[in-house]
Parts: sequence; structure tokens; C-alpha cells
Amino acid sequence: MAKIGINLSTGSLQKEEIIVGIDLGTTNSLVAIIHPETKKPVALKEHNSASLVPSIVHFGSHQEIVVGDTAKEFLISDPANTIFSVKRLMGKSYNDIRKQSSFFTYKVIDDDTEKLVKIQIGTKFYSPVELSSYILKELKTRAEHILKTPVNKAVITVPAYFNDAQRQATRDAGKLAGLDVLRIVNEPTAASLAYGLGLNPNDSKTVAIYDLGGGTFDISILKIQDGIFEVLSTNGDTYLGGDDFDRAIVAHWMKELNLGEADIESDKTLAQMLRVAAEKAKKELSSSEEFTTDINGSALKISKAQFEILIQPLVDKTLQAAANALKDAKLGINDIDDVVMVGGSTRVPLVKNSVSNFFQKNVHDEVNPDEVVALGAAVQADILSGNNKDFLLLDITPLSLGIETMGGLMDVIIPRNSKIPTKAGRQYTTQKDGQSGMRVSVYQGERDLVKDNRKLAEFNLAGIPGMPAGLPKIDVNFLLNADGILVVTAKELRSGVEQTIEVKPQYGLTDAEVEQMLLDSITNAKDDIALRALVEARTEANQLIDATENFINKNGKLMTTAEIEETQAAIIKLAELVKSGTKDEIQHQHEVLNSISRPYAERIMDLAVAAAMKGKQI
Ligand code: AMP
Repeated sequence: MAKIGINLSTGSLQKEEIIVGIDLGTTNSLVAIIHPETKKPVALKEHNSASLVPSIVHFGSHQEIVVGDTAKEFLISDPANTIFSVKRLMGKSYNDIRKQSSFFTYKVIDDDTEKLVKIQIGTKFYSPVELSSYILKELKTRAEHILKTPVNKAVITVPAYFNDAQRQATRDAGKLAGLDVLRIVNEPTAASLAYGLGLNPNDSKTVAIYDLGGGTFDISILKIQDGIFEVLSTNGDTYLGGDDFDRAIVAHWMKELNLGEADIESDKTLAQMLRVAAEKAKKELSSSEEFTTDINGSALKISKAQFEILIQPLVDKTLQAAANALKDAKLGINDIDDVVMVGGSTRVPLVKNSVSNFFQKNVHDEVNPDEVVALGAAVQADILSGNNKDFLLLDITPLSLGIETMGGLMDVIIPRNSKIPTKAGRQYTTQKDGQSGMRVSVYQGERDLVKDNRKLAEFNLAGIPGMPAGLPKIDVNFLLNADGILVVTAKELRSGVEQTIEVKPQYGLTDAEVEQMLLDSITNAKDDIALRALVEARTEANQLIDATENFINKNGKLMTTAEIEETQAAIIKLAELVKSGTKDEIQHQHEVLNSISRPYAERIMDLAVAAAMKGKQI
């Protein structure tokens, strides 16, 4: 039976609208669909090219953007403008990634706060969401080119350990790329689906998914029951993968060639040649016993046995993580029914055999490990499109539910398409010293500004005891029960004051109105997200102005007149830009003010610490 769908970007009617499955990976991304004739999942690729698109974005001298293999060519020659591994920054603040900052060869802004990170390219600032949206847009364009039809709906996968902020960031990236993200699916769940595990509603299984990619490793234990995939535990190492195998080979060859770190530091071409040869060697050793090549006239060799000795400690680390994951899930090896291999590095025979020995069973490795997650996402997409009638579709909420935050922004607490019943919550705090109440306004809809969404309810949490701004902890919880009734609770944790309200989100909304709200969110996505970024930049700037002024009031005696004057001038400029500047101008001036205040703030902090220490000794 043919199905009629609506093309959400044009509003036109369309037959059998396609929903694609997307694996948005750290190193590579790809898109897959269920083949209309064979009914099997397939990865989309243009003739004679690979299905994998490197997750790399390059900005040219006029900010022109290229994605994928073309961008990868700039990794060595133009590192400052070539963004790789942006997935590692999704939903993260600078404090979250401070320890790994040297990993990134491009400029990740250190504003020393808990705010989401930004990346500076030339004079412009980009969020990880925007950068990921370029990768998704490239995948969407490719899919449209291959399928010769518009692609507007997608299922996107994320690691099982992604938190709310990281999932929301992934959703936003999809929206910005013009995709209606019907569901965010855990990568291990998708990999299981690609093998058909859990497709039969009567399946009841416990599955281990071992995912070793280029730069990351994770292992997840899933319980599949009644068509529901529950993550029992996850473990891994976000900085362990096939790249480390390559580095082990390079180190081995450097020893043979009597080369030191300084030799390759000074000769980037040699370093690159060694790295490329090492990856080639590793791949060949997956199917042969020996590898030989020649670099600058020197013969280089490595046998499979030598390679295995080099990587054994790395493989052992992954097995230790697997043991920890089992322990966290309170399970033994015998409780695992199936083991699924994901990621290009599971092609290494030592990896495959070690995992098989560890779990004492054959592993699933028949599906291409680079494609298995995207293929599973396509299976999930097919279920959502209603083609797979055997699979139970759980009740879902069609529109997002959230509350209003600073600047009139919508903060989504329960995203659309969440299974119901569901509950979710988030913690907030006060903006002003001594603030005794907080207004909680509940909205429904997909737009970034609450004024464009539908207001469901509002109440005031009163009686918060007087405390400095930022100290109260206010938990706002949403419980959407099986009847579609939403219960919103706000509670200040230090004092225990609490307030609850009940609403019926769907009350009075027709299907057509829901569809219209979704349509509006797609057509306005670009403007909305730009506006959200501007409002956020303004809010952050105002907070910095307040904090800096407070600091000067307190510590002015310890500052030079020049420092005070320079800071005040920067504050005035920032305040002007908050009124009339662009997002980039505000963020630039925000950085300027930060870099002016950082040296004296550090000096005065050191003085305070020294004084405190002295006080103790007396
Ligand atoms: P992924 O992040 O899943 O795309 O994995 C990419 C990693 O798999 C890279 O480190 C590749 O070098 C590695 N890889 C791809 N093919 C092979 C192979 N045949 N043997 C060993 N490693 C491979």
C-alpha cells in the first residue's frame, strides 16, 4: 500500500517519503536506507566511491565550506581551519574538555566557564552544533543526489553514554541541516537491529556490543525485551582506537630507522608518510602475514606476529573495559547471548579473536563493521515509517515539552518522539541575589523562542530563602504519564519548597495543527537557531559584565589604574554590542574582555591564596 507523506520543507505532498538512517561518527559518517526492492538495509554511496564520509569540515580563506574527503586533505596543511572530531565537543563546556584541549589543532575558545564551547575560525565563531550540521547537510545532499528525491526525515545515532545535552545538540544539528530528526537512537541499539536482534517482539536477549573505531572505544551491554532496548552498562575509552595501532607501528619503525621524536617533529612530510604507511600495513595485516614498503629508500617491514605483540596491551585494555561493563551490569560472561562487532578496527584478527575468546562465543561480524550502525539506523527508520508492521510502535509524544529560560528561550525537557510514559528533569538556579521566587512557564513546540510555541501553564515557585544568585538548586521535573497528562514539579532542594501543576498537552490540538507546528519549526530552523545563538551570546556577555564589575568593586585596590580603565572601556564596548552587535561581534568582545581580566584575576587569586596560607600558619 502506498503511503502519502508531507515534505516538511516544501509542504508538498509526497508518496512514500523516505526516512534515512544516519551514523554521525567521530571519524566518519554515513547514511543508509532500506532498499525499496530487497527490503534490506544498504549504505548509500555514489558510483565508485566509499559510503564513508570523513567527519571533517574545512573553511577556505573566504569561509567557503567543504566536507568529507576534500576537507581531509587540509588536515595537515591547514590545521587551524580544518575541524575534525567535532563529535567530541557536542554538548560540552570548556571545563569538560580542558584536559584534552591539546588534542584539537583548531581554536576551541577557553572562556573558563560552564557554557557550551565555541570554535573560532578566522574572526567567526561556530558551535559544535553548527559544525555537525554541515556534515549532516553533506549527507542529506548526497542522499538526495543518489535517491533523486528530497530527504527531510532522519534517525540519527549517538553513543549510549551521551547525556541529555549531547543528545539535544545532535537533534539541533539535524534540525539546522533541514532534517526532522524523528528519533535519536543509541549506536549499540542500532548495531543490534542491523543483525535483526530485538526485531522479533518475543526476543528476550542480553547483548554485548564491542565498538572499536579510529579514535574511540566503547562497549555496551543491552537488555532487549518486548522490543525495548535497555542500556545496562557502558564502558570504554574515548581516546583509544585504530589510530593508536597506527602509532604503535610508527614507533616500531622509528626505532628500526634510529629516528627520534625531534626528527619527525622537524620533518612533517616524513611523519605523515610513516603514518600513512602504518595504517596501510595495519589494514593489510588483517588479511596477510607480512607487510613491506619503502620510505625514502629505506625498506620497512612488519609481520603480523610483530604487529600483534605491539597492540596486545591496547587490546587487553579493551577487554578490561568489557569485564568492567559486565561487572556494572551485574552479569557474567554466560549471561551474554550475542556479541556484536562494530567499527573498522574490529577487522584486526587479534581483536576479533580476543573478544571471541573473552566472551567464549562466536561474534557477529558478517555485516561491514563501518556500516553496521547506519544500517541499523535505517532499520529503525523503517519501523518508524510503519513499513515494518511486525514491530510494536510505542506511544510517543508528538511535540517537545519544556520551560522558558533566560532571554525567552525554550529549554526542552521532554523532546518530541519520546516514548510515553516518560519522565525527565533539569536543574536550574536563580539569576539575582536574594531572589525569593521563580516563574516556571511550561511550553510545547519545536521553535527556539517560547513566544513561537504554545503556552500550557505557568506557576510561581515562592518561598525560596534568600541566597546569593546561583546558589539555590531548583529541580524542575516533567512526568508525562501513559494518558498523556503532564505533571510539572519544581522543588528548591536546599529549603525543600515545592510546587506542582498538571496539564494536558494535547488538549485541543488537531493532527493538522501538530503537523503545522512541525512544519514551522523546519522552515524557521535557521533563523531560530541564529536567534538562539544571539540571545545566548547576549546573556553570557551580561553575566560576564556583572561578574567583572563585581570583581572590580571588591578588588579595585589591588589593581592598577591602567587595568581598571582598560577593563571599563572593554565593558562599555561589550555593553554596546549587547544592544546592537551581531553574535560574532559580541563573542569577540567577550573574549577581549576575558583576556584583559584574566592576568590580574589570576594575580589577585594567587595573592588571596597566599594570604590564606599565611593566616593558617600563624
Ligand atoms: P571507524 O571509526 O569505525 O570508521 O574505524 C576506522 C578505523 O578502522 C581506522 O583506524 C581504520 O584504520 C581501521 N580499519 C579500517 N579497515 C581496517 C582493516 N581492514 N584492518 C584493520 N583496521 C582497519
